[in-house]
Amino acid sequence: MTLASRKWLVAGSVLLLIGFANLSMFVSWLETLGVLAWARRVSDQYLTGTSVTVIAALLILLPSGTVIAICAQRCHVCDAMLLRRGKYCNECGSRV
Ligand SMILES: [Zn+2]
Repeated sequence: MTLASRKWLVAGSVLLLIGFANLSMFVSWLETLGVLAWARRVSDQYLTGTSVTVIAALLILLPSGTVIAICAQRCHVCDAMLLRRGKYCNECGSRV
């Protein structure tokens, strides 16, 4: 553990403690703004069990790693995934 990571750990712990100490003030401030009532209303109307299930299914089924998908290529000959830039495929040796 380096000195910089220790500094970040101490600063994060202090900020977390300050946040926990003032959590009730923050919640009462949100209550005065009406955010909590709005969140309860939206949760009751729109976050039903079915919608939560559909959202979870979409998050699981949708392909992740779009950044990898943008950077990666597939070989035109053997359809192998090419993760690094190069002129030739690692599997079959054909030119990409
Ligand atoms: Zn190939």
